[in-house]
Amino acid sequence: AQSVHRITSGQVVIDLQTAVKELVENSLDAKATNIEVRFKEYGLRSIEVIDNGTGIAPQNYDSVGLKHHTSKLASFEDLTSVMTFGFRGEAISSLCALTESVTVTTAIAGAKFGTVLELDKDGSVRSRSGKVARQRGTTVSVTELFKPLPVRRKELERNAKREFGKALHLLNAYALVPCTKENQGVVFTVTNVTQGRKAVQLRTDGTMSLAASVSSLWGPKTMENLVDLDLTFDVVTEASVLRRRGPDSNVAASNTIHVKGLISKFTVGGGRTGTDRQFFFINGRPCNPTKVQKAFNEVYRTFNMNQSPFIVADFVIPSDSCDINVSPDKRTILIHSESNLVEALKHALAKAFSSAPS
Ligand code: ADP
Ligand code: MG
Repeated sequence: AQSVHRITSGQVVIDLQTAVKELVENSLDAKATNIEVRFKEYGLRSIEVIDNGTGIAPQNYDSVGLKHHTSKLASFEDLTSVMTFGFRGEAISSLCALTESVTVTTAIAGAKFGTVLELDKDGSVRSRSGKVARQRGTTVSVTELFKPLPVRRKELERNAKREFGKALHLLNAYALVPCTKENQGVVFTVTNVTQGRKAVQLRTDGTMSLAASVSSLWGPKTMENLVDLDLTFDVVTEASVLRRRGPDSNVAASNTIHVKGLISKFTVGGGRTGTDRQFFFINGRPCNPTKVQKAFNEVYRTFNMNQSPFIVADFVIPSDSCDINVSPDKRTILIHSESNLVEALKHALAKAFSSAPS
């Protein structure tokens, strides 16, 4: 049973990046406004995520690491409109199976002390000790990622710096998560300790403006080359979507989409050519919508000779127009009527660029 657990766990946590992502999303789900991610040896030794969120109530201690236990879904209907990142109760359980140790330290509001939970491979609580000093919030600490899977562990060790780079790229996206009415923005810090020396990898204050976050991540010079991105357009709902919703569907046959963020100014002959600084969000949720990204680059290039812009773009989409609960790893967000959306987006971008001062 334990090896089956390991196999299914390996589908949620596939690399360093997804391990970190799950932990950070739990902190965001707990409404943390301060999140610190501490790596040791590029995450090979340990990953620790410290937050000031709601903490875990004592009645939930035993289920934290158990598969399919989540404190986040109140009803089945919630599945179609989940606003939290997590809802399957698989991440902590997977990390238990895929690491040497998982330790959770947590305190809820009003608690005088924090509680330390050491979880077992199967996600059960191996030991519980009370009375450690702890402000409200949760710290999840995992050591030796993939130790139970020697082949994957070797691969991680071999590619440690590259894997760490991917994790940092993802953390950049989370550090840019736009303030919405659901989240207030977070103060975000990422450090790495290697051979006893600590280095701050990034620090942003998402409670300030997006511009402030961009400046603290890449410097004020980068910010000077960006302009606001602010689009509004309608997307016609595809017939297949309406059919799926059934004959009684009285949902409007078109949706208004807003896109907000930042994009590079036109700088003929200059600018960036890579796509490594392009960040997309759907309703504040980081994602990689390949076709949308392609549309941005295509249109931008027709106006600005072969340059790829810096992009931060949050798509505000009515929540019944996208499925976030499609793939088990939640990395694929399906957008209803995506091809219509891409066409409308291209149109809106072309219009915005042709009237933009260069
Ligand atoms: P999910 O996020 O899908 O609910 P997880 O396995 O990621 O499942 O987490 C299991 C449960 O542990 C969560 O439902 C939540 O109750 C609790 N939990 C995990 N991390 C935190 C955190 N940082 N703050 C508060 N609660 C947490
Ligand atoms: Mg989760």
